[in-house]
Amino acid sequence: MTSYLIRNARILGGEPQDIRIADGVIAEIGAGLAADGGQEIQADGLIALPGLVDLHTHLREPGREDAETVLTGTRAAAKGGFTAVHAMANTFPVADTAGVVEQVWRLGRESGYCDVQPIGAVTVGLEGKQLAELGAMADSAAQVRVFSDDGKCVDDAVIMRRALEYVKAFGGVVAQHAQEPRLTEGAQMNEGVVSGELGLRGWPAVAEESIIARDVLLAAHVGSRLHVCHLSTAGSVEIVRWAKGKGWDVTAEVTPHHLLLTDELVRSYDAVYKVNPPLRTQEDVLALREALADGTIDIVATDHAPHPAEDKDCEWAAAAMGMVGLETALSVVQATMVDTGLIGWAEVAERMSAKPAAISGVPGHGRPLAVGEPANVVLYDAGHRAEVDPAAFATRSRNTPYRGMELPGRVVATFLRGEAKVLDGELQ
Ligand SMILES: [Zn+2]
Repeated sequence: MTSYLIRNARILGGEPQDIRIADGVIAEIGAGLAADGGQEIQADGLIALPGLVDLHTHLREPGREDAETVLTGTRAAAKGGFTAVHAMANTFPVADTAGVVEQVWRLGRESGYCDVQPIGAVTVGLEGKQLAELGAMADSAAQVRVFSDDGKCVDDAVIMRRALEYVKAFGGVVAQHAQEPRLTEGAQMNEGVVSGELGLRGWPAVAEESIIARDVLLAAHVGSRLHVCHLSTAGSVEIVRWAKGKGWDVTAEVTPHHLLLTDELVRSYDAVYKVNPPLRTQEDVLALREALADGTIDIVATDHAPHPAEDKDCEWAAAAMGMVGLETALSVVQATMVDTGLIGWAEVAERMSAKPAAISGVPGHGRPLAVGEPANVVLYDAGHRAEVDPAAFATRSRNTPYRGMELPGRVVATFLRGEAKVLDGELQ
């Protein structure tokens, strides 16, 4: 196994130090470390972060390999600085049995680019009617701890209550896609001024907020743990803040696109901006940034949702919902949270590595950059600026809302347990 001596990296944005990586772990940290024959990497000016962990990734395999595979998705993840991703359950077949989650887990091991931790469905077939085999998935080789019907909401309160109760037995968590289905029938975009002007069916904030309010109460009632997926409104922030103030075990995520983009973009009728939950207003965007800064929102998760061109390059109403995000996430977080002075790099590491790993319990990730820890390390050039070029993506799909937009930052290197998966910005 190759050993590496990284010269003058700024750990979490601090003073330059050398980092020696050997035998899969961080072997030494200090100024002016002696060369020992390992490969030297000049990291002057680069920031060193722990390998990022994504709690919300759609890898599409099995079933939609035309959009993404575990291999292409994990290559995209490595290019984005991720060393672990959590694969959502809305595949074909649905990941609602031990067999399917083990298949995804094995595909991740074979890909080798980053660790893949499958998420199990809460209900059979994501149909919201009958609990899936949660215990069998937890006991499987994949050791599933996060359960979600993401893409669909577990809207039946009794089913949601049972799921919350069930996962307590093995320290699991239910990750809810909060969308009251009756309030969003046929909905095409955020309900507000823009939807009124465009004449598109609105998707009201209350459809998200009413489910979050119900779920934090349910989680408190049964003493279980709830995670709120891709929170998108200022009102949702207030509910989570209230629940946390009560001491309830609730965590929440925000996507990079909800930190940057608003529903004004829908005026273009370009379906690349069609996403679930929808892009909201500037007021919501600012509330989400503030909540991520003050810890009300715990983590950033990409909701990377690849789609082939034929599912996006069509009229708005017919287009699929979702955006790719793995390869731009860190840049968008830099632009919206770091360059705006809201948080520093230590907080980025907390919200994109330590905390998501803690929520899921995925072993060996989210650890500090310290001697003896697994060498999951990202080197990042925050001073780089470039226009986003989807042609350069490793993901199989191209549905990025940032095409041609200038964003800061570039992942220069990603190490997974001491092995370089990305060097000089290129997959290895
Ligand atoms: Zn979702």
